[in-house]
Amino acid sequence: MKRRRICSLPKNRSFGPTGLLGKEIAIITMTLDEYEAIRLIDLDGMSQEACAESMGVARTTAQAIYNSARVKLAECLINGHELRIEGGEYILCQGEKLGCSCNHCHKKRSILQIKNGDD
Ligand SMILES: [Zn+2]
Repeated sequence: MKRRRICSLPKNRSFGPTGLLGKEIAIITMTLDEYEAIRLIDLDGMSQEACAESMGVARTTAQAIYNSARVKLAECLINGHELRIEGGEYILCQGEKLGCSCNHCHKKRSILQIKNGDD
């Protein structure tokens, strides 16, 4: 599988319903490329074409990634599941490619994470 370029890492990797201490809840895993599609399209207001260009994939692939991400969000919201963001076939953008959406802020964060011993 061709790796998808992402320009941002999530600030939190886990989301879920509150006030359910001790209850077992199902976990839905969203990949980092799915997270990136939600960020670009739903938050930044990008078209699927622009999202595809930023991620370095075909428009149909971007659409499939986005659709999968939306279903996972809905499952968590409607069924009360925990959402975890991890994995996926991606490369972290270094800001060198044309058409990418990042503003290099992830580079600063990467340096901070290395200093803090985080991933
Ligand atoms: Zn970028």
